[in-house]
Amino acid sequence: MKTLRTIAELRAALNGPRRAGRSIGLVPTMGALHEGHLSLVRRARAACDEVVVTLFVNPAQFDDPRDLAAYPRDEAQDAALAAEAGADVLFAPPPGEVYPRGFATTVTVDEISAPLEGAQRGPSHFAGVATVVTKLLNMVQPDVAFFGQKDAQQVAVIRRVVRDLDIPARIEVGETIRDADGLALSSRNARLRGDERRRALALHRGLEAVRACHAAGERDATILAAIGRAAMAELAVEPEYLELVTQDSFTPVHSVGDEPVLVAVAARVGDVRLIDNEILNRSQ
Ligand code: AMP
Repeated sequence: MKTLRTIAELRAALNGPRRAGRSIGLVPTMGALHEGHLSLVRRARAACDEVVVTLFVNPAQFDDPRDLAAYPRDEAQDAALAAEAGADVLFAPPPGEVYPRGFATTVTVDEISAPLEGAQRGPSHFAGVATVVTKLLNMVQPDVAFFGQKDAQQVAVIRRVVRDLDIPARIEVGETIRDADGLALSSRNARLRGDERRRALALHRGLEAVRACHAAGERDATILAAIGRAAMAELAVEPEYLELVTQDSFTPVHSVGDEPVLVAVAARVGDVRLIDNEILNRSQ
Protein backbone atom coordinates (compact mmCIF):
# COMPACT_ATOMS: atom_id res chain seq x y z
CA MET A 1 0.00 0.00 0.00
CA LYS A 2 1.25 3.45 -0.94
CA THR A 3 0.66 6.46 1.32
CA LEU A 4 0.15 9.59 -0.80
CA ARG A 5 -0.12 13.24 0.31
CA THR A 6 -0.92 15.30 -2.78
CA ILE A 7 -3.76 15.28 -5.29
CA ALA A 8 -1.21 15.21 -8.11
CA GLU A 9 0.39 12.02 -6.72
CA LEU A 10 -3.05 10.47 -6.23
CA ARG A 11 -4.14 11.23 -9.80
CA ALA A 12 -0.84 9.90 -11.17
CA ALA A 13 -1.20 6.67 -9.17
CA LEU A 14 -4.78 6.08 -10.37
CA ASN A 15 -4.22 7.05 -13.99
CA GLY A 16 -2.75 3.70 -15.09
CA PRO A 17 -5.34 1.48 -13.41
CA ARG A 18 -8.19 3.68 -14.65
CA ARG A 19 -6.95 3.54 -18.26
CA ALA A 20 -6.54 -0.22 -17.96
CA GLY A 21 -10.26 -0.38 -17.13
CA ARG A 22 -9.72 -1.31 -13.49
CA SER A 23 -12.55 -0.33 -11.15
CA ILE A 24 -11.76 2.04 -8.27
CA GLY A 25 -13.34 1.93 -4.82
CA LEU A 26 -13.17 4.79 -2.32
CA VAL A 27 -13.53 4.55 1.46
CA PRO A 28 -13.41 8.01 3.05
CA THR A 29 -12.43 8.08 6.74
CA MET A 30 -11.20 10.43 9.42
CA GLY A 31 -8.83 7.78 10.73
CA ALA A 32 -8.58 6.08 14.14
CA LEU A 33 -9.66 3.05 12.13
CA HIS A 34 -11.76 0.35 13.75
CA GLU A 35 -13.77 -2.65 12.50
CA GLY A 36 -16.51 -0.32 11.21
CA HIS A 37 -14.07 1.31 8.80
CA LEU A 38 -12.28 -1.94 8.04
CA SER A 39 -15.53 -3.70 7.11
CA LEU A 40 -15.96 -1.02 4.43
CA VAL A 41 -12.37 -1.46 3.22
CA ARG A 42 -12.88 -5.24 2.94
CA ARG A 43 -16.13 -4.70 1.10
CA ALA A 44 -14.35 -2.34 -1.31
CA ARG A 45 -11.56 -4.93 -1.71
CA ALA A 46 -14.11 -7.57 -2.68
CA ALA A 47 -15.97 -5.30 -5.12
CA CYS A 48 -13.24 -3.22 -6.79
CA ASP A 49 -9.83 -3.67 -8.43
CA GLU A 50 -8.16 -0.69 -6.74
CA VAL A 51 -9.03 0.40 -3.22
CA VAL A 52 -8.34 3.94 -2.03
CA VAL A 53 -8.78 4.76 1.66
CA THR A 54 -8.68 8.45 2.52
CA LEU A 55 -7.60 9.66 5.93
CA PHE A 56 -8.47 13.29 6.56
CA VAL A 57 -9.81 14.82 9.77
CA ASN A 58 -11.96 17.44 8.09
CA PRO A 59 -11.90 20.65 10.14
CA ALA A 60 -14.87 22.03 8.18
CA GLN A 61 -17.33 19.52 9.68
CA PHE A 62 -16.44 20.04 13.35
CA ASP A 63 -18.74 22.47 15.11
CA ASP A 64 -16.79 22.13 18.36
CA PRO A 65 -13.06 23.02 18.30
CA ARG A 66 -12.47 20.86 21.41
CA ASP A 67 -13.92 17.82 19.59
CA LEU A 68 -11.55 18.51 16.68
CA ALA A 69 -8.56 18.90 19.02
CA ALA A 70 -9.45 15.70 20.92
CA TYR A 71 -10.11 13.62 17.79
CA PRO A 72 -7.86 10.53 18.02
CA ARG A 73 -5.05 10.38 15.44
CA ASP A 74 -2.59 7.56 14.79
CA GLU A 75 -1.58 7.46 11.15
CA ALA A 76 1.00 4.68 11.52
CA GLN A 77 -1.56 2.33 13.03
CA ASP A 78 -4.21 3.37 10.50
CA ALA A 79 -1.81 2.64 7.66
CA ALA A 80 -1.08 -0.84 9.02
CA LEU A 81 -4.79 -1.62 9.48
CA ALA A 82 -5.81 -0.24 6.07
CA ALA A 83 -3.07 -2.26 4.34
CA GLU A 84 -4.08 -5.43 6.17
CA ALA A 85 -7.73 -4.93 5.14
CA GLY A 86 -6.68 -4.67 1.50
CA ALA A 87 -6.20 -0.97 0.65
CA ASP A 88 -3.89 -0.19 -2.28
CA VAL A 89 -3.59 3.53 -1.58
CA LEU A 90 -3.86 5.51 1.64
CA PHE A 91 -4.48 9.14 0.72
CA ALA A 92 -3.61 11.27 3.76
CA PRO A 93 -3.35 14.89 2.62
CA PRO A 94 -2.41 17.78 4.89
CA PRO A 95 -5.22 20.37 5.44
CA GLY A 96 -3.60 22.85 3.02
CA GLU A 97 -3.83 20.33 0.18
CA VAL A 98 -7.60 20.00 0.66
CA TYR A 99 -8.28 23.65 1.53
CA PRO A 100 -5.65 25.75 -0.26
CA ARG A 101 -5.37 29.47 0.48
CA GLY A 102 -8.38 31.29 -0.97
CA PHE A 103 -10.69 28.24 -0.78
CA ALA A 104 -14.20 29.70 -1.12
CA THR A 105 -16.63 27.04 -2.37
CA THR A 106 -19.13 25.15 -0.24
CA VAL A 107 -21.60 22.41 -1.16
CA THR A 108 -24.81 22.77 0.84
CA VAL A 109 -27.72 20.35 0.72
CA ASP A 110 -31.05 21.87 1.74
CA GLU A 111 -33.75 20.19 3.80
CA ILE A 112 -32.12 16.88 4.80
CA SER A 113 -29.14 18.73 6.32
CA ALA A 114 -31.41 20.67 8.69
CA PRO A 115 -32.96 18.24 11.24
CA LEU A 116 -31.32 15.97 13.84
CA GLU A 117 -27.53 16.18 13.39
CA GLY A 118 -27.94 19.43 11.46
CA ALA A 119 -30.04 20.98 14.21
CA GLN A 120 -27.64 19.86 16.96
CA ARG A 121 -24.34 20.56 15.23
CA GLY A 122 -25.40 23.59 13.19
CA PRO A 123 -25.82 24.10 9.45
CA SER A 124 -22.09 24.10 8.76
CA HIS A 125 -21.70 20.44 9.78
CA PHE A 126 -23.29 18.81 6.73
CA ALA A 127 -22.00 21.59 4.49
CA GLY A 128 -18.52 20.57 5.67
CA VAL A 129 -19.27 16.89 5.04
CA ALA A 130 -20.88 17.50 1.62
CA THR A 131 -18.01 19.75 0.53
CA VAL A 132 -15.21 17.40 1.55
CA VAL A 133 -16.94 14.30 0.16
CA THR A 134 -17.58 16.09 -3.16
CA LYS A 135 -13.89 16.99 -3.26
CA LEU A 136 -12.78 13.43 -2.41
CA LEU A 137 -15.10 12.04 -5.10
CA ASN A 138 -13.57 14.47 -7.60
CA MET A 139 -10.01 13.68 -6.51
CA VAL A 140 -10.38 9.90 -6.67
CA GLN A 141 -13.21 9.60 -9.25
CA PRO A 142 -14.18 6.18 -7.93
CA ASP A 143 -16.65 3.80 -9.51
CA VAL A 144 -18.01 3.01 -6.05
CA ALA A 145 -17.76 4.89 -2.75
CA PHE A 146 -18.47 3.12 0.54
CA PHE A 147 -20.10 4.65 3.62
CA GLY A 148 -21.43 3.29 6.93
CA GLN A 149 -25.07 3.11 8.00
CA LYS A 150 -24.03 4.34 11.45
CA ASP A 151 -23.97 7.84 9.94
CA ALA A 152 -27.39 7.48 8.32
CA GLN A 153 -28.04 11.18 7.78
CA GLN A 154 -24.58 11.60 6.26
CA VAL A 155 -25.44 8.79 3.81
CA ALA A 156 -28.69 10.56 2.86
CA VAL A 157 -26.85 13.87 2.35
CA ILE A 158 -24.16 12.23 0.21
CA ARG A 159 -26.69 10.33 -1.90
CA ARG A 160 -28.41 13.66 -2.60
CA VAL A 161 -25.14 15.39 -3.54
CA VAL A 162 -24.20 12.58 -5.92
CA ARG A 163 -27.63 12.65 -7.54
CA ASP A 164 -28.01 16.43 -7.70
CA LEU A 165 -24.48 17.12 -8.98
CA ASP A 166 -24.40 14.16 -11.41
CA ILE A 167 -21.31 12.65 -9.81
CA PRO A 168 -20.68 9.35 -11.60
CA ALA A 169 -20.06 7.20 -8.52
CA ARG A 170 -22.24 4.47 -7.03
CA ILE A 171 -22.81 4.75 -3.27
CA GLU A 172 -22.77 1.57 -1.22
CA VAL A 173 -23.70 1.43 2.44
CA GLY A 174 -22.25 -1.03 4.95
CA GLU A 175 -24.15 -2.14 8.06
CA THR A 176 -23.24 -0.72 11.47
CA ILE A 177 -20.51 -2.75 13.16
CA ARG A 178 -20.89 -3.12 16.94
CA ASP A 179 -19.01 -4.32 19.97
CA ALA A 180 -20.23 -7.63 21.42
CA ASP A 181 -22.57 -5.79 23.81
CA GLY A 182 -24.15 -3.73 21.02
CA LEU A 183 -22.28 -0.41 21.27
CA ALA A 184 -21.77 0.94 17.74
CA LEU A 185 -18.06 1.25 17.03
CA SER A 186 -16.88 4.84 16.80
CA SER A 187 -13.48 6.48 16.88
CA ARG A 188 -14.85 8.57 19.75
CA ASN A 189 -15.47 5.46 21.92
CA ALA A 190 -11.77 5.56 22.82
CA ARG A 191 -12.50 8.73 24.81
CA LEU A 192 -15.10 7.08 27.08
CA ARG A 193 -13.75 6.95 30.64
CA GLY A 194 -14.65 4.54 33.48
CA ASP A 195 -18.40 4.22 33.87
CA GLU A 196 -19.05 6.08 30.62
CA ARG A 197 -18.38 2.96 28.52
CA ARG A 198 -21.22 1.14 30.31
CA ARG A 199 -23.55 4.13 30.07
CA ALA A 200 -22.76 4.55 26.36
CA LEU A 201 -24.83 1.40 25.82
CA ALA A 202 -27.88 3.60 26.47
CA LEU A 203 -28.12 4.47 22.76
CA HIS A 204 -28.31 0.82 21.68
CA ARG A 205 -30.65 -0.01 24.58
CA GLY A 206 -32.96 2.84 23.59
CA LEU A 207 -33.07 1.65 19.98
CA GLU A 208 -33.64 -1.96 21.05
CA ALA A 209 -36.51 -0.86 23.28
CA VAL A 210 -38.11 0.94 20.33
CA ARG A 211 -37.64 -2.10 18.14
CA ALA A 212 -39.16 -4.46 20.73
CA CYS A 213 -42.13 -2.18 21.31
CA HIS A 214 -42.71 -1.87 17.55
CA ALA A 215 -42.44 -5.66 17.21
CA ALA A 216 -45.06 -5.97 19.96
CA GLY A 217 -47.46 -3.91 17.83
CA GLU A 218 -47.01 -0.28 18.89
CA ARG A 219 -47.26 2.08 15.90
CA ASP A 220 -47.45 5.56 17.48
CA ALA A 221 -44.10 7.31 16.97
CA THR A 222 -44.46 9.52 20.06
CA ILE A 223 -45.03 6.46 22.26
CA LEU A 224 -42.18 4.53 20.61
CA ALA A 225 -39.80 7.46 21.14
CA ALA A 226 -40.88 7.78 24.79
CA ILE A 227 -40.16 4.07 25.33
CA GLY A 228 -36.68 4.56 23.86
CA ARG A 229 -35.98 7.58 26.06
CA ALA A 230 -37.14 5.68 29.15
CA ALA A 231 -34.72 2.83 28.38
CA MET A 232 -31.90 5.36 28.05
CA ALA A 233 -32.84 7.02 31.33
CA GLU A 234 -32.14 3.72 33.11
CA LEU A 235 -28.48 4.37 32.31
CA ALA A 236 -28.85 8.05 33.24
CA VAL A 237 -28.45 9.20 29.64
CA GLU A 238 -30.74 11.81 28.12
CA PRO A 239 -30.65 11.91 24.33
CA GLU A 240 -30.10 15.12 22.38
CA TYR A 241 -32.71 13.58 20.12
CA LEU A 242 -34.41 10.24 19.66
CA GLU A 243 -36.70 10.52 16.66
CA LEU A 244 -38.50 8.44 14.09
CA VAL A 245 -38.03 9.83 10.58
CA THR A 246 -38.35 8.75 6.96
CA GLN A 247 -35.18 7.18 5.62
CA ASP A 248 -34.67 9.38 2.58
CA SER A 249 -35.90 12.84 3.54
CA PHE A 250 -35.57 12.69 7.33
CA THR A 251 -39.06 14.06 7.89
CA PRO A 252 -40.75 13.12 11.18
CA VAL A 253 -43.03 10.09 11.16
CA HIS A 254 -46.16 10.20 13.34
CA SER A 255 -47.26 6.64 12.88
CA VAL A 256 -45.19 3.67 11.67
CA GLY A 257 -46.83 2.00 8.67
CA ASP A 258 -45.32 -0.55 6.30
CA GLU A 259 -42.52 1.68 5.01
CA PRO A 260 -39.00 1.62 6.48
CA VAL A 261 -38.61 4.12 9.33
CA LEU A 262 -35.28 5.29 10.70
CA VAL A 263 -34.98 5.62 14.47
CA ALA A 264 -32.08 8.01 15.03
CA VAL A 265 -30.49 8.83 18.37
CA ALA A 266 -27.70 11.09 19.60
CA ALA A 267 -26.48 11.56 23.16
CA ARG A 268 -23.58 12.91 25.09
CA VAL A 269 -21.99 10.51 27.55
CA GLY A 270 -19.55 12.54 29.61
CA ASP A 271 -17.73 14.65 27.06
CA VAL A 272 -18.25 12.23 24.22
CA ARG A 273 -21.03 12.73 21.69
CA LEU A 274 -22.34 9.48 20.20
CA ILE A 275 -24.91 8.62 17.53
CA ASP A 276 -26.65 5.44 16.47
CA ASN A 277 -29.73 4.36 14.53
CA GLU A 278 -32.00 1.46 13.72
CA ILE A 279 -34.35 0.80 10.82
CA LEU A 280 -37.88 -0.46 11.48
CA ASN A 281 -39.52 -2.36 8.59
CA ARG A 282 -36.16 -2.76 6.89
CA SER A 283 -36.76 -3.73 3.27
CA GLN A 284 -34.90 -6.95 2.17
P1 AMP B 1 -15.45 8.45 10.16
O1 AMP B 1 -13.99 8.13 10.19
O2 AMP B 1 -16.09 8.45 11.50
O3 AMP B 1 -15.75 9.69 9.34
O4 AMP B 1 -16.14 7.25 9.39
C1 AMP B 1 -15.72 6.88 8.09
C2 AMP B 1 -16.74 5.92 7.51
O5 AMP B 1 -16.84 4.77 8.34
C3 AMP B 1 -18.13 6.55 7.42
O6 AMP B 1 -18.76 6.15 6.22
C4 AMP B 1 -18.81 5.97 8.62
O7 AMP B 1 -20.22 5.88 8.48
C5 AMP B 1 -18.19 4.59 8.67
N1 AMP B 1 -18.32 4.01 10.02
C6 AMP B 1 -17.96 4.58 11.20
N2 AMP B 1 -18.30 3.79 12.23
C7 AMP B 1 -18.90 2.69 11.69
C8 AMP B 1 -19.47 1.51 12.24
N3 AMP B 1 -19.49 1.27 13.55
N4 AMP B 1 -19.99 0.61 11.39
C9 AMP B 1 -19.98 0.81 10.04
N5 AMP B 1 -19.46 1.91 9.46
C10 AMP B 1 -18.92 2.84 10.28
